[in-house]
Amino acid sequence: MGRVIEARELQEAAGFAAEWARRVRELRNEEGYQILSHKDRASLKPGQYLIETDKRVPAFARSISKETRAYVLERNGYTCQMCGAGAGDQDPFNPARKLRLAIAHIIDKSKGGLDTPSNLVAQCTNCNEGLQNAGPPKPDRAMLMGHIRRATKDDQRHVLQWLRTKFPEEAP
Ligand SMILES: [Zn+2]
Repeated sequence: MGRVIEARELQEAAGFAAEWARRVRELRNEEGYQILSHKDRASLKPGQYLIETDKRVPAFARSISKETRAYVLERNGYTCQMCGAGAGDQDPFNPARKLRLAIAHIIDKSKGGLDTPSNLVAQCTNCNEGLQNAGPPKPDRAMLMGHIRRATKDDQRHVLQWLRTKFPEEAP
């Protein structure tokens, strides 16, 4: 309490369990512990955590409303805006789990960012926790088209369906 903890110490305390970051997230999101990170405090570096109070704030008491969350998820097509993974895709860090999406601030709250839709994006929990430091580079168009041309008709139809939902105004 009141002391800045490094990710390394948490890893050690967790017996080097691979899931320590997820546990931090669960304690924060599901049990409401106010575990601060660099996203909440400009004075903290990435990988540093701080608990200042044992007061718990359950997720429903947070400032981003259910409506705003739903709006942002819908606008971002239920897709992580960093790595492109979709909600419900297999979690690359734990194949037994499905990916969940979180709502992230473009400008951190610690730097005055607001809880308004224009400052919010959908991010998978891995990207949100910085497990994937930078999302993979966007696929090159020629490579992408090559993949689609070589795909099965069934997969091509799947892509077409997805594009039609994404760009309804361009549907014939
Ligand atoms: Zn992601």
